[in-house]
Amino acid sequence: MKLLRFGEFENEKPALELSNGKRIDVSAFGEDFNEVFFASDGLTRLAKWLETEVEACPEVPSNARIGSCIARPSKIVCIGLNYAKHAAESGMAVPTEPVVFFKSTTALCGPYDAVVIPRNSEKTDWEVELAVIIGKKASYINEEDAMDYVAGYALHNDYSERAFQLERGGQWVKGKSNDTFAPLGPIMVTKDEIPDPQNLRLWLSVNGEMLQDSNTNDMIFNVKHIVSYLSQFMTLLPGDVISTGTPFGVGLGFKPPRYLKAGDVVELGIDNLGTQRQRAVNYSTL
Ligand code: ZN
Repeated sequence: MKLLRFGEFENEKPALELSNGKRIDVSAFGEDFNEVFFASDGLTRLAKWLETEVEACPEVPSNARIGSCIARPSKIVCIGLNYAKHAAESGMAVPTEPVVFFKSTTALCGPYDAVVIPRNSEKTDWEVELAVIIGKKASYINEEDAMDYVAGYALHNDYSERAFQLERGGQWVKGKSNDTFAPLGPIMVTKDEIPDPQNLRLWLSVNGEMLQDSNTNDMIFNVKHIVSYLSQFMTLLPGDVISTGTPFGVGLGFKPPRYLKAGDVVELGIDNLGTQRQRAVNYSTL
């Protein structure tokens, strides 16, 4: 299944993209795509409900805003430096254990929303990433069981303010958490439709120039390992988002570095997970 949400920010309605590409409003199912939905086997229940109700579901208006593909989760956990060439361009060593940081859940937004360059930011940067959505509560799980805890996948742009991240007193969370820094979607694709998450092309362009173009087979730590690893340190809840790191080609890595300015257009995609497009705007213009 392909889940999405549409409508005004923080008032989105649930929808599905059918195999014929048609997008239908499934508000009548009565649930948002949140922790309770995933925890109560919502994917199975929704598929069952659809068997009899699909014809009655209205189509999503073609001009509707598309929101984050799932509701705000309990946490967004990110993996840093998970592609060797990206570690090198960042001037950091290839990690021997996953580098882990959090991103504020209030950073979550839709895939076509403008990215707001924060107040006093000069180093707003991009990071195309494969995001994993957790399907059931996970604590101390083995790597061989890890996929049982995954609901699906989505495209994520892990926007990063490099000065806030690296020059403002340590810990990366400050550079990762501004509003609009986590566009997620347009769709969450259930894991049955993505048989191999370690063989997906992911790419990102700025103003039409391709800057990131890699494959998830280049990850240092794969999805199974990451899910199992994180569960040794925290309980992952249904609906939680894990962003698995970005490949080579971020603005920080250029000489001189390249950062976003108002008017720039960022486009990105991952095989089978759709594409995003964000125009950068200054905070003061809101
Ligand atoms: Zn990242």
